[in-house]
Amino acid sequence: MTFDLSSRLADLAFLDARTQKVLASGGFVTVQQLLLHFPFRWEDRRQFSAWPHGEDKEPLCLHGNVTDTQLKRFGYKKAFVEITIDRESAAGLSEPVVLRFFNAAWLYKQFAAGQEVVAYGKVKCAKNGRLVIDHPEYEILDGDPEDVRIHMRRIVPVYRAREGVPQKQLRRAMFLLLENLSDAALPDVLPPPSDAGDFAGQSRAFALRRIHFPESMEQMEAARRYLALEEFFVLQLNVLRRRQDWQALAGEPRCGNGDLYAQWRALLPFALTGAQERSISEVRADLAKPCAMNRMLQGDVGSGKTFVALAAMLFAVESGCQAALMAPTQILAEQHYLNFRRWLEPLGLRIALRTGARKEDSFLPLLSEGSDAPQILIGTHALLSGDAAVTDLGFVVIDEQHKFGVEQRAKLVRQGRAPHVLVMTATPIPRTLTLTAYGDLDVSVLDEVPAGRQPIFTAVREEPDTAQVAGFLKEQFAAGRQAFLVFPLVEESETLQVRSATVEFEKWKKRLAGHELALIHGRVSGEEKEAVMAKFRSGQTNALCATSVIEVGVDIPNATVMIVFDAERFGLAQLHQLRGRVGRGEHKSYCILVASGKNPEAVDRLRTLEKTTDGFAVAEADLLLRGPGDILGTAQSGLPGLRLGDLVRDGKLVRTARRLASVTIENDPTLTKPENARLLPLLISSESLSALS
Ligand code: ADP
Ligand code: MG
Repeated sequence: MTFDLSSRLADLAFLDARTQKVLASGGFVTVQQLLLHFPFRWEDRRQFSAWPHGEDKEPLCLHGNVTDTQLKRFGYKKAFVEITIDRESAAGLSEPVVLRFFNAAWLYKQFAAGQEVVAYGKVKCAKNGRLVIDHPEYEILDGDPEDVRIHMRRIVPVYRAREGVPQKQLRRAMFLLLENLSDAALPDVLPPPSDAGDFAGQSRAFALRRIHFPESMEQMEAARRYLALEEFFVLQLNVLRRRQDWQALAGEPRCGNGDLYAQWRALLPFALTGAQERSISEVRADLAKPCAMNRMLQGDVGSGKTFVALAAMLFAVESGCQAALMAPTQILAEQHYLNFRRWLEPLGLRIALRTGARKEDSFLPLLSEGSDAPQILIGTHALLSGDAAVTDLGFVVIDEQHKFGVEQRAKLVRQGRAPHVLVMTATPIPRTLTLTAYGDLDVSVLDEVPAGRQPIFTAVREEPDTAQVAGFLKEQFAAGRQAFLVFPLVEESETLQVRSATVEFEKWKKRLAGHELALIHGRVSGEEKEAVMAKFRSGQTNALCATSVIEVGVDIPNATVMIVFDAERFGLAQLHQLRGRVGRGEHKSYCILVASGKNPEAVDRLRTLEKTTDGFAVAEADLLLRGPGDILGTAQSGLPGLRLGDLVRDGKLVRTARRLASVTIENDPTLTKPENARLLPLLISSESLSALS
């Protein structure tokens, strides 16, 4: 009988009717669905764990016989089952181990003395001195020949439970499936990874067989890597396709000859960094192309992303179109506005500010001669909510945005015309994530900080004396400097023992009596926020008590102290971002991370920041410690569609997959060559892919 991945399990004669029914109830309809349900662990049943004599921290896999079964009841309805297992050896019976199941009286019927069982779980010592495993995973072997052939004397796969599908039955179905499925039904998805030596001689068929039933754990890991590479390859094909989709949209070259840029450069009192120069020329080259730019600018806090944006906007504006800069918050939009005015007023450009808080009246065309539309628009996302002033938007810069997805990009497309888009990240992103979650973007990197920056002194302090902290702050105030005090929450929470900005603000006002303190957080109204920030910027306020609203982009050179309370509540990348709020001027700056000290691991984690000021290094550390979900701001820990690939461990595979996918697409942009036909079903539509971002 021949069948392939798309065949229905219900049509396979070697699976009995009962098995087919059970599989269907677990949601397995096709061969492919079953085959791609990968094990989450493997048990080596050629050699079981040594029989325990006491507690063990690691879970054990025991093989023994049932010697006693008990159903114990207490109270009304409550019952637990105790199954005693033992191992017979030449030396006689060993110390029995009791498998305990609480509130599972129905299990009792399954067991009988004499049965052979495999149990997996952590052994502990009960109060009465017996060795017990609570709620172990277990399998009862009925002694039929299949038990030996499939479930014993080999490394067996253990699958995540699916409703109504017993482990043994699932494993048996998988075994029979692989036994009956020909290699020809499992053609490779990957092109031969030419220079990836580790994969020499591997095939999809081999990997799929060995991921389920490996002969050694090394073989299993090799199969996992092969299949992970395949997953990343499919992901890359899709992101590269999405990039093609964007490029296929009508775009226009939007690049002037550079006179405006040269005028601005002549006004700059300092040199641009090499990285800024490089990024500007990359962006400039994109602007000159007839297809819309889709680029991401990554740079550490303080690396000078704004000037790259400003320079790029000059090229665009010179070509006659409008350019917009979108910031995530009003504070940042206003800061950019002031900054842009300072640099561009001398060049005679028309700049306008547009934020959600101040509606139409906030459109303050700078040199508003008659009805001339502004050339440069600065604002929040409100900018995009249809406006007469936006007439010919050719270039959009999005500042401090991690997640700028397909949907938002689609909003920018007007009458099928796509403006050039440059997205600037708030923090560096680990390379594996850049290649996957943002794989459809071109990337420019600012890996250099402007010369003359003072390194920021960073220290982790466990519950320091507040009087000492106040003393230090007063010294800084006396020297004319300002400080940020950052707290994790807005209001005191009863459940979380954390400081809150509101309550702490009152306390610090007393501790720092005679100095000006202000409070800012997400619930302060837009207008008030502006007023508070303006006072702080002008130096009237000595310290700003805040939540992480000040995290992004705030630039106040005279602020030299950043104290983060309950620092362990923040991610490393976020703390690094906060740290970047100081050290922006000529004075020595300090970042103090106050930990409650109750969790040594958390304190260790914070110490990473004492060791490095390189944002790319911090991002990599954060990825290792907290996983990609946290960095991407998604609930899941990985990207959808990754079953075996691990963005933390498999960075090299991601890069290999990118290369393979690029070559595949370059050779055949629409993947229409007969040898590529197998790949077409693996391409997801752009819409469903937008779930990725
Ligand atoms: P970020 O990348 O965090 O957005 P900014 O663009 O806000 O950084 O720049 C941080 C500070 O560094 C600003 O005050 C800016 O004027 C200054 N700056 C940027 N580029 C240079 C440079 N090449 N030389 C000196 N200072 C610079
Ligand atoms: Mg910035």
